[in-house]
Amino acid sequence: MPYIKEERKETISVEGDWDIGGSTTWKDSTLLQGYAQGLKEKRIIGSLCPGCGKVIVPPRNICGRCHRKMDEKVVVSDIGTVTCFVISAPFAKGKMQVLGMDPVETGLVGEGERVISVYVKLDGADSNIDTELIGAKPEEVYVGMRVKAVWAKERQGKLSDLEAVEPLRD
Ligand SMILES: [Zn+2]
Repeated sequence: MPYIKEERKETISVEGDWDIGGSTTWKDSTLLQGYAQGLKEKRIIGSLCPGCGKVIVPPRNICGRCHRKMDEKVVVSDIGTVTCFVISAPFAKGKMQVLGMDPVETGLVGEGERVISVYVKLDGADSNIDTELIGAKPEEVYVGMRVKAVWAKERQGKLSDLEAVEPLRD
């Protein structure tokens, strides 16, 4: 079979809208509401599996590992370890749009700023949460870096109450 690039010299493009800015639908909103309510009190809740003993954050109904019901809830630490990270390209005015807006123009990010997306395994959890690392330069981040939660000043019982993580400095 020939290499696909020999057969198709040009990338096929299709016109269309891709709405990734809309709301996310969760299978069990009460489960996530409980999680969000915990965040309001700076508590990060996970579910504990009675079968394999894993703690999953945010909580889940069924263990993906051994398929048991995870009725028990536990509170995990707001301190954890970076397990994976991605550093964005520098943001530049007029280069991209997020939800139809220019993130630099709206002041969401600064010109030339880079955003660090991280996966964090909180102490006491066996899963990762995905969030943003702030208060660190891109060259400072590494797998194994210890970080702690950055909470919203006025928490409202929403997922955004847990704003980001920052380096744990002693
Ligand atoms: Zn399990």
